[in-house]
Amino acid sequence: MPTAYDVIVIGAGTGGYVAAIRASQLGKKVAVVEKQKALGGTCLIWGCIPTKALLEHAHALKVVQNAKEWGVMIPYGAPAIDMKQVHTRKDKIVTGLTKGVEYLFKKNKIDWIKGTARLMGKGKVDVFEGDKQTLEAKEIIVATGSQPRSVPSVQIDHERIITSDEAIHLKEVPKSLVIMGSGAVGVEFASIYRRFGSEVTIIELLPRLVPVEDEAVSAELEKSFKKQGINVLTSTKVTRATASSTEVTIEAQGADGKPLSISASLLLVATGRGPVTTGLGAEELGIAMDKGYIKVDQMYRTSVPNVSAIGDVITLGTGVHPQLAHVSSMEGVIVAERLAGKPVQPLNYEHVPGCTYCDPEIGSVGLTEAEARQRGYDVLVGQFPFGVLGRAKMAGESEGFVKIVADKKYDEVLGVHMIGPRSTELVAEAVLALRLECTVEELIKTIHAHPTFSEAVAEAAHAAHGAAIHM
Ligand code: FAD
Repeated sequence: MPTAYDVIVIGAGTGGYVAAIRASQLGKKVAVVEKQKALGGTCLIWGCIPTKALLEHAHALKVVQNAKEWGVMIPYGAPAIDMKQVHTRKDKIVTGLTKGVEYLFKKNKIDWIKGTARLMGKGKVDVFEGDKQTLEAKEIIVATGSQPRSVPSVQIDHERIITSDEAIHLKEVPKSLVIMGSGAVGVEFASIYRRFGSEVTIIELLPRLVPVEDEAVSAELEKSFKKQGINVLTSTKVTRATASSTEVTIEAQGADGKPLSISASLLLVATGRGPVTTGLGAEELGIAMDKGYIKVDQMYRTSVPNVSAIGDVITLGTGVHPQLAHVSSMEGVIVAERLAGKPVQPLNYEHVPGCTYCDPEIGSVGLTEAEARQRGYDVLVGQFPFGVLGRAKMAGESEGFVKIVADKKYDEVLGVHMIGPRSTELVAEAVLALRLECTVEELIKTIHAHPTFSEAVAEAAHAAHGAAIHM
């Protein structure tokens, strides 16, 4: 007899493990099948956590590099990064967090089945690698996530032509690094390795860096990257990459249409991630798919009854589904609550914050100025630079701004776009403002403590109404 559960979750990333915990909290008997040696998935093991740990090291180095300005004495030579210690600290953080999820599983009496699972139909799950067994449940949640993918012209060899999975483990700072793609992953590694001392070139097919962000944010990032000595090539298409034992040669078509060639120690391919569904048995079960992604409705039901899916592996069929940890977790909570019979509302994907932890960092939510205009709004814009703030001057972080996009007719906030210090934290206020359908006036009337970076939000709201106080 197969072991029977109320809910089986396949995959223990930020989608799967959160769904499992919520389902258990709501009284369900839950098992999670996870094939990795640790719990936490991409976010904890290869993504959010290790990359942000490396970025904190880069930030620490930045402060030390400016020691003279801070009045800190460094008696011998220029500061440099010690990669061994960097990895020791990063790995300790990762292990602490993955063990933390293990503890939460025990606390919530969730069974972790260590192995690889495939769907068998009629509520059965076959664990065919690892702790081989057949499990059975009333409900199955697929949360198998995503993995790096390349473009047809570039073959990843994991040595000279690498993905983020390798970039987080580099034992030495590469002399030179070319990064293909300027989404969140690309610009974060550009910040890390430039600060660590690499010569960095970032190649983007589209006309601007971080193309999903507001155009003003892209322009500010490009300005800052160039100031930091990062070579930025936009409107440039990589046509070929050839690796030798010592270097990689990247051929591309430049913005002027002419061919160009760059040699570097490494090429990091950061052109996006694809779904993990191979061998899962989803197609065989008749689950509707689209280019490998599992199709779901607004409540994350697949086309097969009692099988749900969440996180990076899904498509809602309405534009791009954001592959973000906080999105997968929220979807996990919604599914678990639906399965427990609680009332649930569909997620508003226009209120998903985007956080990019490059230097300077980016936090944004809602419509960009261009999107608001495209939708026919009479647009109101207010922008305020961080550099004017006392708090930013103290921190020595004076780049960037907060930009508010609003509707002139009803004064409603439609989007907030920030680049600069603590933007990934400050965006929380903007998310709430959008969720509560706040007006610009309400942001102005909200007291922002002094001296804080958050004053830039209030000042941008003032600016949208005609005049910032401190500008
Ligand atoms: P995953 O985390 O990919 O988890 C899926 C799990 O399923 C894996 O553990 C896998 O081993 C397991 N699995 C797959 N198939 C099977 C099977 N058949 N049987 C058993 N187990 C299986 N997002 C943010 O919000 N903020 C960030 O700062 C951020 N930074 C990132 C940086 C990098 C470099 C990368 C690559 C990603 C980053 N992300 C970030 C994205 C984030 O990591 C993902 O959106 C998130 O992890 C998706 O969670 P998930 O649960 O859908 O899938």
